[in-house]
Amino acid sequence: MTSKGQAMRADILRVLRGASHALSAYDILAALRAGQPQLAPTTIYRALKALCARGEVLRIESLNAYALRQTEGGDQPVILSICDRCGALRESVAPDLVASLSAAAQHSGITPSHHVIEIHGQCHDGCASTPNHP
Ligand SMILES: [Zn+2]
Repeated sequence: MTSKGQAMRADILRVLRGASHALSAYDILAALRAGQPQLAPTTIYRALKALCARGEVLRIESLNAYALRQTEGGDQPVILSICDRCGALRESVAPDLVASLSAAAQHSGITPSHHVIEIHGQCHDGCASTPNHP
């Protein structure tokens, strides 16, 4: 069971490593079904959940998709910036911002359990019509 789970997680990491953009669970399932026709969606979801919990994979809520986590930082919430044209993902970590958001939630009467911070826009690698470069 454990080794099967490890093999599945390794397969998913391999698929995500080879992708140029975030993939849905069904994209991953389709990629892996070529070699494992019996593979069930629940198996993929279980492995993705474990990979997210380990900080190896990010779930992109607004796209309902997954990508390899690029930044180190353990349990620090990641701020994701997403290019809506080419799908590029950029990660950043801003502990002060997260602390401010947590304080605002506390102040409003909600104890935060996790943060989802996703910013959509256009990347500076050719997608932004007016890049902010000098
Ligand atoms: Zn772009």
